[in-house]
Amino acid sequence: MSTMTRMCTVMLAAGALLLSPPLAAQTIEDIAKALGAAQVETIEITGSGFFFALGQNVRPGVAWPRANLTRYTRIVDYNKGGISIDFTITQGENLPRGGGGRPFMGFQRRDSGGLSDQAWIMAYPAGTATQTGVAQAQHDLWTTPHGLVRAALADKAAMDGRTFTVTRAGRFKARAHVNAHNLIDKVESWLPNPVLGDMALVTEYGDYKAFGAAMVPTRIAQSAGGFPVLAMGITDVKVYAGGVTPPAAIQPAAINVQIDQAAPGVWFVHGGTHHSVVVEMKDHLILFEAPLGDARTNAVIDTVKRSLPAKPIRYAVNTHHHFDHSGGVRAVAAAGITIVTHAIHKPFFEAAYQNPHTFAPDALARSGKKATFMTLTDKRVFSDGARTFELHRLKDNLHNEGLIVGYLPKEKILMVADAFSPRAPIVKTPEQLNPFTTNLWDQIVALKLKVKTVLPIHGRMVKVEELKIEVGRTQ
Ligand SMILES: [Zn+2]
Repeated sequence: MSTMTRMCTVMLAAGALLLSPPLAAQTIEDIAKALGAAQVETIEITGSGFFFALGQNVRPGVAWPRANLTRYTRIVDYNKGGISIDFTITQGENLPRGGGGRPFMGFQRRDSGGLSDQAWIMAYPAGTATQTGVAQAQHDLWTTPHGLVRAALADKAAMDGRTFTVTRAGRFKARAHVNAHNLIDKVESWLPNPVLGDMALVTEYGDYKAFGAAMVPTRIAQSAGGFPVLAMGITDVKVYAGGVTPPAAIQPAAINVQIDQAAPGVWFVHGGTHHSVVVEMKDHLILFEAPLGDARTNAVIDTVKRSLPAKPIRYAVNTHHHFDHSGGVRAVAAAGITIVTHAIHKPFFEAAYQNPHTFAPDALARSGKKATFMTLTDKRVFSDGARTFELHRLKDNLHNEGLIVGYLPKEKILMVADAFSPRAPIVKTPEQLNPFTTNLWDQIVALKLKVKTVLPIHGRMVKVEELKIEVGRTQ
C-alpha cells in the first residue's frame, strides 16, 4: 500500500462522519460548503475502469465499443480555467467490434486539455499538440462537482428545487442535481456534436469521500448520446496538485484539401485525416464520403465546385454511421445533395437530426432544410450508359454492419473506409491480421471485384498488391 493510499484511507474514515447530518440546500453556497469548494483550487484525480468510444458502435442503437481504462488522470485548475485529461486504454475485447481505432495491440494513450479559450489534443509517440474545439474541455472542467458550484457562484445562479443550471453560450449547458447531503450526485448536460446536435450527457458522481476539507466523488459514470462513455473508480485524489500547463507549441487545426485525378473522371480529394472521392457521371458528380463535420465537408464541396464547375454534386455516399465518417453528412444535406447510405443507418440519422442544434448551429440547422436519403442493403449501381459505379456492403464486417465500399468496374478502383487504411508502405504481412481487412479481401473475392487500385478514406492511394500483402494473400 502506498503512503498516498494509506493517507486517503485515514481521510475516508473522517469523511464518513462528515456525511451524517443531512441538510437541505437552500442556496448554492450551502452546496459549495458541503463540497469544500473554496478549498479546491487545483485537484488531481487518478482512477481506472472502462472507456467507451462515442459514435463508433458496430451498428446504430447498440452500446459504444468498450475498452479497458487502465489509467486515468485528470487535473483541474479552477482559478485559471484549466483541465488536462490523460489516460491509457487497452482493447479489452478479443474480437474487436466497432471503430475507435480497433483493432489495436497494447496500450493506447489519449491526452487532451484546455486552458481558458484554448484547447488541444496530443498525438503520440510524436508528442505534438493540435488545436481542438474548446466546448468539450470547458464542459469537462465545469461539470465536475467543484466546477459546477464555482461556475454557479460566479453566475449568481439560484437553486431550482434540488437542481441548479450552468450555461456557457455556444459551448454547453449543465443541470446539477443535489442529494440530501448537499452533494452533486447527477449532472445532465448538453454539448454540441456534428451528428447528434445538442448531445445529451448524464454524469453520475457517487461514493463521496473527504480528502482534507474537500468532498470528492470516487465513482464516476458518464453516458453520452444514450450509452456509457466512462465508468471509473477513483483511487487517488490530490488537492492543490499543481496547475495545467499548455504544450509549448500548439499546431492550428488547419483544413487541407487537395484534389488529384486517380483516373479519368475519378478524383481523390485528400489531405488531413479523412479523405473523399469524386466520381464524374454524365451530368452530375457523386461524392464518396462527407467526413468529420461542416468545416471539412464544406471545404471539400467548395474544392470540388471550383475544380469541376460544370457538374453539380447530386449524391453523397456515406460509408457508415461512425461519427468521424458521418459528421459532414448534414453539410451535404444543407447543400441539397441526396445522402446515400445503408438502410440500417437512415433511421439513426433521421432520429438524430430531430435534435436541436442550439449550441453550434450548423449549415443544415441554419438552412431549415431536411436531409434526403437513398438507401441500399447489399448493392446499388449508378450508371449513365458510359460509366458504372457500384456500391457494395461488406457483409459480416465487424467494424460496422452497414459498411459500404465503392467500386468502379471499368477503372478497377475500390473505395474503402476503415476496413483498410494504408499509411506506411506495406511490405510485409503483419503477424496479427486485421479481421476488418481480411473480411474486405474475402468480400472482394466473393463479389468478384477486379480491383487494381484502392482509394482509402484514411491513408494513401495504393495498388491492390499492398492490400494482398496486408492480408497475406499472394495471388
Ligand atoms: Zn468506422
